[in-house]
Amino acid sequence: MRIKQLKLSGFKSFANKTVINFDENFIGVVGPNGSGKSNVIDAIRWVFGEKSNKSLRGNSSSDVIFGGTEKRKKQNIAEVTIVLDNTDRHLELEFDEVAFTRRLYRSGKSEYLINGVEARYKDIQELILDKGIGKNAFSIISQGKIEEIITTSPENRRLIVEEVAGILKYKKRKESALNKLSKTEDNLEQVSLILNEIEERRIPLERQAQIAEKFLVYKEQLETKEVELLATRIKKSEEEYHGLKVITDNAKLELIKLETTETNLELDEEELKAKINEQSVKLNQLNIQVNDCLQKLSSKRTDLKVLKERQALLSERDGREFELDNNITRLREELHAVKQEYTQLESYMKLAATKEQEYQDGLTKLRSELGTVRIRENDIKSELNKVTIPFATRKLLEANLSGVHGTVSDNFKVDLKYTEAISTIIGGRMYDVITDDRNSATKAINYLKKNRFGRQTLLPRDAMRPMKIDDATKAKLQNAKGFVGIGIDLVRFEQVNQNVFSNLLGNVIVCSTLEEAKQIASNVTNRFRIVTLEGDLIQTSGAMSGGRSKRQSKLVLESNLAKVKNERIKLDAKFETLNEKHEQARQEYVSRKTEYQLSKSLLDRLESDINLNKMELQELGVDQTTDSGSNELEVAIHELEAKADSLNVTRTKLELEKNKNSERAEEVFSQLRSLREEIREINSGHSNDNVRLERLAISLKTDTAVLREDYNMSTAMAIEKANDDINIDEYATEVKSLKSKIRNLGPVNTLAIAEYKELTERFEFIDTQREDLVVAKNKLEDIIRKLDEFFITAFDKTYSKLRVEFQHVYKELFGGGHADLILTNEDDLLLSGVEIVAQPPGKKLQTISLLSGGEKALTAIALLFAILRIRSLPFAILDEVEAALDEANVKRYAQYIKVFSERTQFIVITHRQGTMEMVDALYGVTMQEKGVSTTVKVSLKEGASYA
Ligand code: ATP
Repeated sequence: MRIKQLKLSGFKSFANKTVINFDENFIGVVGPNGSGKSNVIDAIRWVFGEKSNKSLRGNSSSDVIFGGTEKRKKQNIAEVTIVLDNTDRHLELEFDEVAFTRRLYRSGKSEYLINGVEARYKDIQELILDKGIGKNAFSIISQGKIEEIITTSPENRRLIVEEVAGILKYKKRKESALNKLSKTEDNLEQVSLILNEIEERRIPLERQAQIAEKFLVYKEQLETKEVELLATRIKKSEEEYHGLKVITDNAKLELIKLETTETNLELDEEELKAKINEQSVKLNQLNIQVNDCLQKLSSKRTDLKVLKERQALLSERDGREFELDNNITRLREELHAVKQEYTQLESYMKLAATKEQEYQDGLTKLRSELGTVRIRENDIKSELNKVTIPFATRKLLEANLSGVHGTVSDNFKVDLKYTEAISTIIGGRMYDVITDDRNSATKAINYLKKNRFGRQTLLPRDAMRPMKIDDATKAKLQNAKGFVGIGIDLVRFEQVNQNVFSNLLGNVIVCSTLEEAKQIASNVTNRFRIVTLEGDLIQTSGAMSGGRSKRQSKLVLESNLAKVKNERIKLDAKFETLNEKHEQARQEYVSRKTEYQLSKSLLDRLESDINLNKMELQELGVDQTTDSGSNELEVAIHELEAKADSLNVTRTKLELEKNKNSERAEEVFSQLRSLREEIREINSGHSNDNVRLERLAISLKTDTAVLREDYNMSTAMAIEKANDDINIDEYATEVKSLKSKIRNLGPVNTLAIAEYKELTERFEFIDTQREDLVVAKNKLEDIIRKLDEFFITAFDKTYSKLRVEFQHVYKELFGGGHADLILTNEDDLLLSGVEIVAQPPGKKLQTISLLSGGEKALTAIALLFAILRIRSLPFAILDEVEAALDEANVKRYAQYIKVFSERTQFIVITHRQGTMEMVDALYGVTMQEKGVSTTVKVSLKEGASYA
């Protein structure tokens, strides 16, 4: 590449448009002092973008615009265009010719053009950098520059080596990378600060958010669990409550019935007591009457005796006669007394006999009843013996496998009154065997198969589907006539078997009679099976079955047996008591009879004694006629005796009646006692139920309140969530533990979740940015490191070459001596400066500043030539660099240039003859008009011509 043309207009002293064609490779520029030669070099420097006013020898940028002369006005625009031959594509542009133009207006406006197209300063710098054109390129050496090369700092001198090495472009890149790096680091710091700030807020929020999240989870679990628990408990409590209510109501009715009987019996007792009292009074009266009668009799007898004595005295009858009479009278008195006793004894004996007979009859009746009951008991026993457990069932139960829990019938209890109904429903499934779960059932089946024991149905507790009657139907049933209960509520079993019995009996309605069953069936639209207490059944299909099956079920038989046994035991006890009473009555009768017989024989003896006395009296021939007085007395005595007898009979009868009433009263009292015992039993038996009922009511009230207050839910709403499969105790424990977990969480800030999330998203977003920045930073650092490596290698290589060439050229130029380029810091090739040392021939190596002007210039020229030896510059412009040289050195200098001019275009400003003699062409700069430069080409052969 070379300079083809320079066009100047309004630039410094070149007021007119001036075009200089540089057609040759070694061009000299000559002219008088101050004619404007150096302005040409300034123009070249300026057009390539020089900005230093000092370099351009001015004070301000506008100093380059033509300032006017005495005759001419100053101009407003300075413009320079340099046209370069680029056929070798030294500049990276696809043009054979490249023209750079720079314009400056007085206004300060500045313009750059490349081939007439507007460009930026930067575009031009990038194009020429490392192309041997730029300001560090050592290709334009003005007058003061020689001194500067020698005296400048080693660090500045280093730039020359870098330019030669072609690394300035990369230095720019590094600079830009460093800028970017610093910006990136700034950004990184800012981003890190923001991240720290966020993190400071995020850490406490994270804990709060975790707590809040836990809280929400627990709360949701609690809500589901507690509602389910409450609903299930309410449902179960209600069911149990209604079931228990039926039982307690029945018990109450039973109590009322018993209490009515009690009242009636009490009335009977009262009545009997009144009767007994009345009879006692009557008996007392009778006793008084009898005594009165006996007293009268006794006085009459005394009267008669006195009369007889007087008669005897009067008639002086035979003493014997008197004696006999006395005997008869005494015997008669005795007879009468004995007779009275006899009558009483007779009635006592009869009473005892009647009593004994009554007890005897009772015993006979009881005996026959007992016989019947015993026959029934034996019948049931033999019937029960016939009902055998199926072979497979028996074998399975004998095997005692784990998880196998006996037959259905082994696993529940039922009250006698429900037996028929329940056994009708369970029926053939009575011998199904209950197991823990499906696994146990499978094991049982495998056992039966293996041993060929036959078929068996198994009911795994965990697999049995619970059946139930919906609440609406249940509510309807409560009021239905004859409704007794739901099958499952009428049996007792262990909780573990809930599923099994719920499956068997959960959806069965039990009612009293078939008529009522039909009515209920139509009320529940035949959705459930209905069974009566007698075992009649209405299927959901509508089919009905009833009547007594020929062979009763084991369950019925067992309960019948218990019933009959109970009856027999009662009868046995009754028989025992009656037997004892009978024995007492019999003994009394025997003793009464003995007493009676003794009295009878005494009576007989007395009567015969009287007769004997009477007979003797007759034999004596005594006149029996007595006076009327004694006869009257005797009649009266007879009458009184008869009255006493009759009173005695009445009294005995009354006594008998009174005794009977006493016995009856005793019986009533004993009935009352056992009735009261029964009432007490029922009362104590059902007081537990009542306590339970009260507890259920309280539990229902509490649960309903919690539902309403905590969940704003009505019982009806909640009941749909009831789940019969849950274990209420377990659920209650879980609910309790969830509540305590929530309590233990302490204060909860649910807003923290969203805040934490937002902050985390922001954190992550910014962190991604930070990561991007880190990646960018690493990349930049990598680029810088690589660039540095490249710098070091390129610098080292160029420096080494340049050093050798410099030593060589110096020796040649000085005809001996020694010079060198020395690194100020060999350890840091990136920053090390470059020092020049020179030792002209025959002199001691000395400080460069002490060299003479010519020596300094020659040393600098040697450096320029050394550069040209290792790298061809496109052109070099030298402004009187040889001024201080002696003639011989000028010659050598010019010859060197001549040699280099084959590869490099030289434009040299000179006053020296030696140089002028070597150039290919010579341009003269003159000021024909004062202050305005013009150029003229001086043909070396043909003479001067004006450009
Ligand atoms: P020497 O041989 O002494 O180095 P020279 O030929 O190199 O001289 P220059 O330094 O190129 O001369 O030119 C300097 C001349 O240019 C001065 O006369 C100066 O007045 C003139 N000059 C510089 N700037 C301007 C300007 N802006 N307007 C008009 N003239 C200017």
